[in-house]
Amino acid sequence: MTIRHHLSDSLLMAHAAGQLPEAFGLVVAAHVSMCDECRVRLEAYEAVGGAMLDRCDSAPMADDSLDACFARIAGTPRTPRQRPAPAPRSVFPAPLRAYVGADPGAIRWRPVGMGVRQAVLRTGKGATARLLYIPAGQAVPDHGHRGTELTLVLQGAFRDETDRFGPGDVEIADQAVEHTPVAEAGADCICLAATDAPLRFAGILPRLAQPFIRI
Ligand code: ZN
Ligand code: ZN
Repeated sequence: MTIRHHLSDSLLMAHAAGQLPEAFGLVVAAHVSMCDECRVRLEAYEAVGGAMLDRCDSAPMADDSLDACFARIAGTPRTPRQRPAPAPRSVFPAPLRAYVGADPGAIRWRPVGMGVRQAVLRTGKGATARLLYIPAGQAVPDHGHRGTELTLVLQGAFRDETDRFGPGDVEIADQAVEHTPVAEAGADCICLAATDAPLRFAGILPRLAQPFIRI
């Protein structure tokens, strides 16, 4: 997998600091699980955060707390080291499987029009995460963005006015971007997308449907 579109420094930094809404954090974690380059960058930001914590004043502890700690370790039954079971092969990366399982066929997809289907995930406030299923050759209606939209490709590929996005690529779209993503011919495209504000659709039909499909 050759990944060409990566996460921004500000997203990685905010994720390392635990500042992102859950839906954005999920897209970041899913991309990082597929991308060595961003994993290294994220670890660097986490190390910076840890170093800053180290420089904070330490809290006073009871004199016997170290002894108590050793006593608890000694009392813990030893468990043989187990290798983690190999993850099943899935187009869904591990962080996403925690939400939806591993099988795209088991997802309760709901139609959003023009053959496109979605499944909204259960995440906390501040942003919404959804899986999008775009049949090969099909377009998502032309739209702009009121906030930030992160789209991670899991299967297939799409093109829009800015570039081509294949498996592992993440598109970061903001208010300045208006686009019509079109799934490439040959394979249906599955994406994980997160938005922190409703999209701005150019067409009247998608606008009318918007309240019902929560996009
Ligand atoms: Zn990356
Ligand atoms: Zn968009």
